[in-house]
Amino acid sequence: MSRIIFGFLGTDLDNAQTGEDRWQKWRPTVSLFSDENFPIDEFHLFHGNGHKELAQTVLSDIREKSPVTRLHDETMSFTNPWDFEEVFEKSFDFFKNYAFKPQENEYLFNIATGTHVMQIVVFSLINARIFPGKLLQTKPRNDKKFPWKGVPASIDLALEKYARITQLFRQEYVNNIKALMLETPTRPAAPESDAEPKFSVIWNVTHKCAWDCAFCCMDSRPQTARFEMSFAQKMAVAEKLKEVAEKSPGVNCRVDLSGGEVMLNRDEHLPLIKRLSQNLGKDNVGLSCSGKNIDEGTAQKLAEVIADVEMTMDAAPGVDFPYRPKKYHQTAGDSARRLKKCGVTVGLQTVLTQHHKNPRILEDLYAWLCENHIDHWSILKFFPAGRGNSYPYLELSDNECVELGKRIRQLDAQNSAPKPQLDFHYLLPGTEKNSHCRCVRKSIGILPDGRAVACFWAVGEDGHLRDPRFLLGDVTQQPLTEILASKNSQYWRDYCANHRECALCNHSGE
Ligand code: SF4
Ligand code: SF4
Repeated sequence: MSRIIFGFLGTDLDNAQTGEDRWQKWRPTVSLFSDENFPIDEFHLFHGNGHKELAQTVLSDIREKSPVTRLHDETMSFTNPWDFEEVFEKSFDFFKNYAFKPQENEYLFNIATGTHVMQIVVFSLINARIFPGKLLQTKPRNDKKFPWKGVPASIDLALEKYARITQLFRQEYVNNIKALMLETPTRPAAPESDAEPKFSVIWNVTHKCAWDCAFCCMDSRPQTARFEMSFAQKMAVAEKLKEVAEKSPGVNCRVDLSGGEVMLNRDEHLPLIKRLSQNLGKDNVGLSCSGKNIDEGTAQKLAEVIADVEMTMDAAPGVDFPYRPKKYHQTAGDSARRLKKCGVTVGLQTVLTQHHKNPRILEDLYAWLCENHIDHWSILKFFPAGRGNSYPYLELSDNECVELGKRIRQLDAQNSAPKPQLDFHYLLPGTEKNSHCRCVRKSIGILPDGRAVACFWAVGEDGHLRDPRFLLGDVTQQPLTEILASKNSQYWRDYCANHRECALCNHSGE
């Protein structure tokens, strides 16, 4: 794997006297090339037109110390390097068009140089996965003989141990996007209503999951070390949701908890569900889970505070299905029966992939759903996202979706009651549903670390946003009402009112 580093020229820090004396000074950019244990294959140095000479000196010193490194002299001029909007847009344009190959290369961005605003912009690009890499820091090695040498250290913002750094950057980023895209709220916080006023908050409370599904769109797994809100912060969000519901008369405000696996941490998430139920009403709290950890006692507790639970079942229990761990469907099936026994409405969802073209899979599954008196059956289409990005060939074409939809309707038509109520997801081709994008107009997402996003699905691998524009704010820092009333939220409402296309697939950001 090659190591590729990007960095802004430090117009002060990288500047030194001419002649041999320049090696008496620690210059962050040059010092990156002083560690034999940290070889660098490629380096891109950004500088403005006015600093060409300094950039050449720095590049030539790097060449002297590391002749094997491929060097790139990148001109990026800023009228005002402390202006967030300008730095963001120019950096965004550059990296949007850069052909990253994360499977082959390790990417790092040196933040020891550049203005504070540049550092925040780099953070936001990494956080949004526009730059699929890590931050890089360097400090002087304090070597009297070689004062120019440094100690590089990388920072993976996705890791829990860097939670504080991530929080600090995010707070500043949120403040900056407020200045960039958001204006003082001029309208009440109520979500936009329509004929059937419903506003849905999809709250992904955790990245952690007991399973490790090969194509998990959330990139969840048992030992994930990504940062998530504390219990106290989650309970505070439950109060913020209550405020939204109270300020939106006539709008049915509903929250669905998902993950990861919500029930993996029952000690925190059962009280959270109870509080949400008190704040929003039992019928306005839903749970999407895998069925893990729902024993009889838990099913009973859930029945007291929640109206419906949805689990995933791509094939009937006992039927081999690649990409899901063994016992995954059995666990969902057993929990479905326990929950039904306690009076909870149970929905199962199936994510259609190429495997469902085998008619037996859908037939066996449908028979199981009927036998077990499942209330709802939701049909979704597989979109390559998260770890699913590695399985693009599982995705069905639009025609294939339409064909499978017909087959499911036939199964349903041939069967007399009792049978589950069918629900085709609005993005499944052939559903004839209003397929206008829901971003903010009908729904928002909250991520485990507190980011409020226009679409719950806007998360790529490692929990990074696919595009920074999906970030609406941070529920640990702002009231949700402020987030919903912002100009940025209004931007998405307008987008959804005017576009049928899924913003994730088609939004170019203009
Ligand atoms: S797909 Fe669901 S159950 Fe599977 S690892 Fe991801 S979050 Fe867990
Ligand atoms: S971006 Fe796509 S997935 Fe997200 S709300 Fe819009 S249509 Fe739905």
